[in-house]
Amino acid sequence: MRIETLAVHSGHAVDPTTGAVAPPIQLSTTFERNADGTYRGAYSYSRSDNPNRRALELALAAIEGGAEAAAFGSGIAASAAVFQALRPGDHVLAPAETYHGTGKLLRDICIPWGLQVAFVDMTDLTAVAGAVTPQTRMVWAETPSNPQLKITDLAEVARIAHDAGAVVAVDNTWAPIVQRPLEQGADLVIHSTTKYIGGHSDVTGGAVIARESSELFQRIRMLQGTGGAIPSPFDCWLVLRGVQTLPWRMRAHSENAMKVAAFLAEHPKVERVDYPGLATNPSHGVAARQMTAFSGMLSFHVKGRAAALAVAAKVRVFVRATSLGGVESLIEHRASITGESPLTPPGLLRCSIGLEHPDDLIEDLAQAFG
Ligand code: PLP
Repeated sequence: MRIETLAVHSGHAVDPTTGAVAPPIQLSTTFERNADGTYRGAYSYSRSDNPNRRALELALAAIEGGAEAAAFGSGIAASAAVFQALRPGDHVLAPAETYHGTGKLLRDICIPWGLQVAFVDMTDLTAVAGAVTPQTRMVWAETPSNPQLKITDLAEVARIAHDAGAVVAVDNTWAPIVQRPLEQGADLVIHSTTKYIGGHSDVTGGAVIARESSELFQRIRMLQGTGGAIPSPFDCWLVLRGVQTLPWRMRAHSENAMKVAAFLAEHPKVERVDYPGLATNPSHGVAARQMTAFSGMLSFHVKGRAAALAVAAKVRVFVRATSLGGVESLIEHRASITGESPLTPPGLLRCSIGLEHPDDLIEDLAQAFG
């Protein structure tokens, strides 16, 4: 079946007791044993498993083309389980330009715990190959990158990692559906389902999807129940509902972002636009090979902090807020959240392009520059 059909139907079945078409939410934390001590269904206690979580995991595995998925209470909890599934002393390559929460997780928790981590520019394949050591167990990629939307060549990174006997984990939060890392050779895909998959800025969640039911994935599954960073049944229900419209939303996010990026690229007050869909973008070639559309995230650069804050202050349709992937467009002065750095210069504004009419978004930005 095609991805739109998989998204609508995976994890959904008409409820056999009531005929309900939308799935019921199962809040019970515990499930009765039969007189002989066995369980009548597959469930015993909701930290270990729950019908809403199981349905969500089926759907997430289906849309990424994976064998199995494990849902978590946040994207960062999913990432933490992946790193914890390694052993102290293992070596990980991670991108220098990564979501700042992932960098913090590695620096503040994983490295003190004993993981060896080297941060490299994942878009520089020579640097990636040069950073691999005999202890490298995992290469972690995140593409498009945050906030400069650089694209990592996943097939090439997977080739380098696999030649070295390492697994490849890809944070695909910024480009579900339009980028399919498991087809490019990745072993694990990580999502913050808080973003595009949930899609409405009203639920926090995360997931790990595995190409095959490997020993590493079984450790992640064990950490889900034993570490206990699980999503609630209602959170699973909301994310599963988001999955149903995800392919169509990604199409519209991508179309809108392309139009907004083209407008920004021509604006005299804009010094640079970071959007991999633009033919002038240095990552466009890799993006065009690897993605079927370019998703809804873009950044643009104006002259300095004051100019960036002035644009953000004047928007009326865009909402000034962090995060991404919801139906509403967001704009953010990224350095105000992460601090200024060469990757996050003071004049950078990051946008999550939503599902409003693109002309309203363009008119909003035009008046904000005024
Ligand atoms: N990965 C990426 C690429 C993100 O952008 C984010 C959040 O912004 C996360 C992971 C963390 O997700 P969560 O906030 O759901 O923990």
